[in-house]
Formats: sequence, C-alpha cells, structure tokens
Amino acid sequence: MWYVSTRGIAPRVNFEGALFSGYASDGGLFMPEELPQLDKETLSQWSTLSYPGLVKELCTLFVGPELIPRDDLDDLIDRAFSRFRHKEVVHLSRLRNGLNVLELWHGVTYAFKDLSLCCTAQFLQYFLGKREKHVTVVVGTSGDTGSAAIESVQGAKNMDIIVLLPKGRCTKIQELQMTTVLKENVHVFEVEGNSDELDEPIKAVFADVAFVKKHHLMSLNSINWSRVLVQMAHHFFAYFRCAPSLDSHPLPPVEVVVPTGAAGNLAAGCIAQKMGLPIRLVVAVNRNDIIHRTVRRGDFSLSEAVKPTLASAMDMQVPYNMERIFWLLSGSDSQATRVLMEQFERTQSLKLPKELHSKVSYYPYTTEKGKGAATQLTQGLEVCCGPRRGSVTDTPGTASGR
Ligand SMILES: *Cc1c(COP(=O)(O)O)cnc(C)c1O
Repeated sequence: MWYVSTRGIAPRVNFEGALFSGYASDGGLFMPEELPQLDKETLSQWSTLSYPGLVKELCTLFVGPELIPRDDLDDLIDRAFSRFRHKEVVHLSRLRNGLNVLELWHGVTYAFKDLSLCCTAQFLQYFLGKREKHVTVVVGTSGDTGSAAIESVQGAKNMDIIVLLPKGRCTKIQELQMTTVLKENVHVFEVEGNSDELDEPIKAVFADVAFVKKHHLMSLNSINWSRVLVQMAHHFFAYFRCAPSLDSHPLPPVEVVVPTGAAGNLAAGCIAQKMGLPIRLVVAVNRNDIIHRTVRRGDFSLSEAVKPTLASAMDMQVPYNMERIFWLLSGSDSQATRVLMEQFERTQSLKLPKELHSKVSYYPYTTEKGKGAATQLTQGLEVCCGPRRGSVTDTPGTASGR
C-alpha cells in the first residue's frame, strides 16, 4: 500500500514512511493511493469480529504484510489494548429509541485517543526496534492528547516524550495523569499561557526542519495517518452492531454522530464510507463551529479565536483533517486540493467550490426528511443527556461523501 500527499507534490511513501512523517513535504497529509473496496462477503465476514479483530483486518489492508507480517501485527494490537478496562475494548451501549452510544472511553486515560495512540505507539516501537533508532515525541496539549500519548509510550525503549501543558487550564485529573507518570522517558512541562500560545513554540520547533531531523523529533497528533487508520475501526464496529441485518440489498444505512475537533475521527468515517460501509456521518461541534459553517454554507474560514467550552478537546480553530476529506470528496484531485488549502493558508478563509460543497453536505437538514431526522437526533440526545438547558441555536449539519 502506497500513500500519497493530498497536495500531490511530495513523493509517495509506504506505511512506515507515513507513520514517521507528520505533514508531507509539500504541506499536505498522507492518504492511501487507492482505497480497497469491500464487497458484501468481506463485510459479512467482518461483521462478527471483535473490535481488536477489526483493527487487525484494517491494518492488514493498509500496512501490508511485507512491512509487518500478520503474526507480528496481531501481537502488536493485542499488546496495545492489553491495559484497557473493558474486555471488549470498545462497547456499544443501547439506549431507548434506537439511539446507541459507542463507548470509546475504556482506555487507561479515559480519552478515546487511547485507542489510536496505543496502536500507533506499538507500530512506532516495532519499526524503531528493527531499525535500532530513537525518536522524541513532542506534544502540546489541553489534556486528552497529552495523557493518552504519555500512556501509550511510557516505558518504551526507543522513544522519549516531551509534553507541554498550559498551567491551570487542564482538568485536575488530566494534569495528574500527566504529571504522575514516573517513567524515565516521560518529560512533562507546565507553561504559562493558553493552548494557542502554547502551540506557537511547538510550531516553531517543527518548522525548523534541520533541528527536527537532528533530534529525531516527531508529533503524535491526528495528522498522523496511523491514528486515522485505527479510528476507521470505530465506524465499522458501530455499523455492524447497529445494522439490523446484512441480508438486505442495498445494505441498511446507519447514522453516526461524530463529536469533532480536528476531524480525525470524521476523516476515518469518510474513508470507511468510501470503502463501501453504508454510514451517514453527522458532525457535532461546539461553539468552535468552522465545520458546521463549512457543511451549511461552504464557509471554511477561521474564526477570530478559539472559544473555550466544557468540551476542551473539541476547541479547535483549524480542523486540519478536513483536508483529507476535501481530497477524498474531490475524487483524489490533489491539484484542486492544493489550490484550496494554499488559499486557506494565505487568507485563512475559503469558500468551497459549489460542487465540493454539495458533496460535503449531501443530506441537508433543510429538507422535510432532513428536519425529521434532526428532530429525532435532538430527541435522542435528550434521552442521553437529559432535557436541554440553554438553546440549540441552529440545526445540526451533516458532512459526508457519497
Ligand atoms: C480528541 C477529541 C475529540 C476530537 O476528535 P477529532 O477526531 O480530532 O475530531 C472529541 N472529543 C474528545 C473527548 C476528544 O478527546
């Protein structure tokens, strides 16, 4: 399996190359050159697999046995999930009215990032051990990513991790999760300022290519392809547990609501959908609503500042994985994606071309059918979270490809 940059200029790489790179050298993100299409037989075979079983199948497809033989891969994935509290790793909980909740929080730090980071860290250690190399992971965090990244690499022989956290701005639990790990390869620093200010020195470090090379630095945020890959399993697992039956033709659709920050989990869903999984994706955002505006109006432009909310892991100004989604929905058109993203980088504002916008919002909640679905969704969420206080100011939006 080869990976190409969404901007089409950087040379293609294999899984190992994508794993160790953050951005491609042309500023794009790595995506599989071709997406395997899953036929009905494969889907039906996969439908009875456990969550780790699905991760193994997906990784076999996207890593390739020439890089990690299947036996090794199975060991790595089993080791990755060995410290999860739930025996299923991920559990689907059934509420009333056909609403289900995918419990992605049974990892050590309770963040859903545990799932993809544990696997990613295992892949990194596998290649580092084989090549006798060492890397230092540098992470800036408002909580979830830092705790989960530390948990995934603590004690690893060929990796060190440096975490910067904004003083007084993480929850107490997360601060303790980060500052109480006593392994020698874990280095945690508290810094003054908010998470935007914290991003600046980290960006500056990664912009210094020679420095990064010399010290073997890498990031572990969700621009990393390996994290997106593992997250695809969430969507397959949810689909197989929710779909009434796989005997009908076409297969029944399942709607997946994705709380979204950097759009990593959303990009994973879009890829799963392109591979033939009949899911409909609904994006949930908080007041940091750039994706909502993109879906509704094609308005992919930066807001003035990050608005702090209770869901701090979703307080993102730039959902960088949207680039992967734009590339997918434009039919892997890297030329078009490059023009769009470069314009966004220059002006921090982008109006999506009509055709791309229509693909992003293919099931608008402005139609009668859509309004029904929106009401059902809101009612479902009330069952889950209790009656809403405050007000919902706008109807939800969808994002998806056909
Ligand atoms: C990281 C995180 C998100 C955002 O996920 P993305 O895949 O980056 O959109 C949402 N909720 C929680 C709790 C998170 O930890």
